[in-house]
Amino acid sequence: MRLVLLGPPGAGKGTQAALLSDTLKIPHISTGDLFRANISKGTDLGKQAQEYIDAGKLVPTEVTANMVQDRLEQDDAADGFLLDGFPRTIEQAELLEKMLAEKGLHLDHVINYVVSEDVVVERMLARGRGDDNEDTIRTRLEVYRTETAPLIEHYQDILLNIDAEGNVEDITATTLDALDK
Ligand code: ADP
Repeated sequence: MRLVLLGPPGAGKGTQAALLSDTLKIPHISTGDLFRANISKGTDLGKQAQEYIDAGKLVPTEVTANMVQDRLEQDDAADGFLLDGFPRTIEQAELLEKMLAEKGLHLDHVINYVVSEDVVVERMLARGRGDDNEDTIRTRLEVYRTETAPLIEHYQDILLNIDAEGNVEDITATTLDALDK
């Protein structure tokens, strides 16, 4: 199964992805995690991404899309994946569609985690990651509203809306139900 997780920053995509990945036996591919791993290893990619991440802005699409393409070509992603954090713009969605179509593949579902802004701000401040300060959170929410939210409409035909304000286990169960798993 080829899935994309959508939702504002702080919606809990990473938490759900880890749990879903275990049950569905498909790898969790998080662009944020990939960037952070590159930053801590000091790679060129990490250096290119760092200033954008620290400012809460999107890393340029070319950099991000190449990283995703490399990851999707690894063996463990051959039969499915859970993409978390990509695509984040219509342009990235079109690139993903192209990457998949070249192999005769397509996305099965897009899971949209629905949660209010108040709740995501609370969660991000509690999480306290390096890029979770108030200014950066404000920028990331603005980027989400203008760049990422249009994907909800873009993926209308394969979209599953899931209420993401309850407890972690319930949200996982609701997601698996919606996927009929
Ligand atoms: P969150 O879900 O809280 O927004 P992520 O770990 O998904 O956090 O992303 C952290 C940062 O990594 C983003 O604010 C952005 O700078 C960068 N990033 C992640 N995915 C993408 C993407 N698809 N395109 C551009 N930048 C990205």
